[in-house]
Amino acid sequence: MRFDLITLFPEFFQSPLQSGLIGKAIAKGLAEVHCTNPRDFTSDRHHKVDDEPYGGGAGMVLKPEPLFAALESLPTLPARQVIYLSPQGEPMTQALFQELADSVDQLVMVCGHYEGIDERVMTLIDREISLGDFVLTCGEIPALALLNGVLRLRPGTIGKEESHRCDSFSDGLLDYPHYTRPAEFRGLRVPEVLLSGNHGAIAAWRRQQQMDRTRDRRPDLYQTWQTQQSEPDC
Ligand code: SAM
Repeated sequence: MRFDLITLFPEFFQSPLQSGLIGKAIAKGLAEVHCTNPRDFTSDRHHKVDDEPYGGGAGMVLKPEPLFAALESLPTLPARQVIYLSPQGEPMTQALFQELADSVDQLVMVCGHYEGIDERVMTLIDREISLGDFVLTCGEIPALALLNGVLRLRPGTIGKEESHRCDSFSDGLLDYPHYTRPAEFRGLRVPEVLLSGNHGAIAAWRRQQQMDRTRDRRPDLYQTWQTQQSEPDC
């Protein structure tokens, strides 16, 4: 899969794209990530990428010419989506990550700054995606979250294919609690059932934990899950 980041700050991505499972996936060739800087597509002496808004008001707006030129410089793979990261977009969800991981082979992400981008750039955008109902200073953080969430679901990124089937949101519930050795730490014991070796009892306990946690922490999710209940996948 190919990821293209249209960003004024390519250095922002250096460390996150070299670390952990995402760094390994890129090193293994499961994904290619390319940064394209709109500033490289300016022709004026000062390499100006922003300007004052028409109509007045505070803040600066990213100019259309460098963004058009940066986007038009990219190769076009057959299944491509061009995303503008924006607080006005559809919310980032696990279902959205899964949809993109399954259907797209090139994800182009435009990172905004200041007041945002000139509205005419939207003619090149397929979709706006938001990290949540809040405003950040830049699109690089949501772009990194989108890249991470999508690439994580591509085959080979996570060691065992099964390991994300039981994650929170995969089947509508939150994940169950996890424990590892030692069996007792500072007087805190691992639940006995997990030490029992009884796989049926362990699966039932985990399922119950998933339901209890979801009901307590996310009643909205729990209600939806109850109406579309599916068999446990793990
Ligand atoms: N004036 C814009 C608005 O109110 O909708 C906010 C601009 S924000 C300060 C600057 C840039 O950060 C945006 O162009 C966008 O790319 C990015 N951004 C900020 N919050 C975001 C969010 N919740 N999700 C996705 N992108 C966001």
